[in-house]
Amino acid sequence: MGRLVVERDTCAVCDAERPLAHLFSKRGQSDATPYAIWQCLSCGFQRVRPMPDDRALAAYYAGGVGADYANYILAAEEKKAHFRQKLRDLDAYLPPPGLLLDVGCAAGFLLEVALEQGWEPHGVELNPGFAASTASTLDGRVTYGRLRDLPTHQEYSVITLFDVLEHTPIPREDLARCRDLLAPDGIIVAQLPCIDALARKALGRHWYHYAPPAHVNYFARDTFQKLAESLGLRIVHQAWTRKLMSIDYLLAQMAAHIGLGRAPVVPVIGKLRLQIPMSERLFVMSRS
Ligand SMILES: [Zn+2]
Repeated sequence: MGRLVVERDTCAVCDAERPLAHLFSKRGQSDATPYAIWQCLSCGFQRVRPMPDDRALAAYYAGGVGADYANYILAAEEKKAHFRQKLRDLDAYLPPPGLLLDVGCAAGFLLEVALEQGWEPHGVELNPGFAASTASTLDGRVTYGRLRDLPTHQEYSVITLFDVLEHTPIPREDLARCRDLLAPDGIIVAQLPCIDALARKALGRHWYHYAPPAHVNYFARDTFQKLAESLGLRIVHQAWTRKLMSIDYLLAQMAAHIGLGRAPVVPVIGKLRLQIPMSERLFVMSRS
C-alpha cells in the first residue's frame, strides 16, 4: 500500500472544499497521459483531478476516436432498438409526448425514436463530427455545443442524459442547467456508470468505466442522489439497467477496453442481441 495522499479541493457533489484522497492513476485510452483519480473523503464521489480542460476534451472528442464512432454509426439499428426499449421501460414516468431534449445526442438515434413516437425532440451534442449523420433526418433539431449554449426560455417535458454525466467536467452545472430547462411537471432521466456496481468491486482500477479522459466522474447511488437533491431534484425511480447490444458490438467494445487498441470497424452482422449489465444505473428525477 502506498502512502495516502490527501489534498483539499472542491467536490462537485458536496459543492464545497473537501479533503480528497488520491486513489490511483490510470493512463488515458487515447494518450499516454496519466490521469489521477481522487475520492472525496466526505461523500465518496470520485473524479479525475486535475480535470482535463475544455481544450483537451474538445481535442479528444473531435479527433482520434474515428473507429469507435464508425462502429457507433454501424450499430444504428441496435441503438434505436435499445432506445425503443428505454422509452418502454420509462413508460410509467413519461408525461404525454411534448418537448424532449436529449443531452449528448450523438448521432441522434434517440431523437429519431422519439420522433416516431410523437415527441418533439431536440438534441445537444459536443462533437460536431456527428453533424453529417444527423443532417438529413433531424435537420435543425441538434445544437452543436454545450448545454449552456441552449436558449434558456425553452421548457422540456423530458430531458435525457444517457452516458453524459460521467463525461462532463462540470456535472453539477450541467444537471442544474437541465433542472432550469425542465417544465414544472417534467422529468429528467439520467443513465450513468456507478462505482457501487459489483463489476467495479471485482475489477478495481481495471473497471472499464475508469476510462479517462472520456470518463472523468464516478458516481454511486448515494453520491448521485446527494447531487440531485442539492439541486432541488427528487429521485422518483432508480434501478440498475442493462444495455441492448449485439455480440459483434460488444466484442469490439471489449477489445477497445482491454487495450487491444481501438475497436476495429466491424459490420454489425450479429443479429443476436443481449441485455448486458454494464454497471450503470438509471435515475428518473422530478423537481422536488
Ligand atoms: Zn464530496
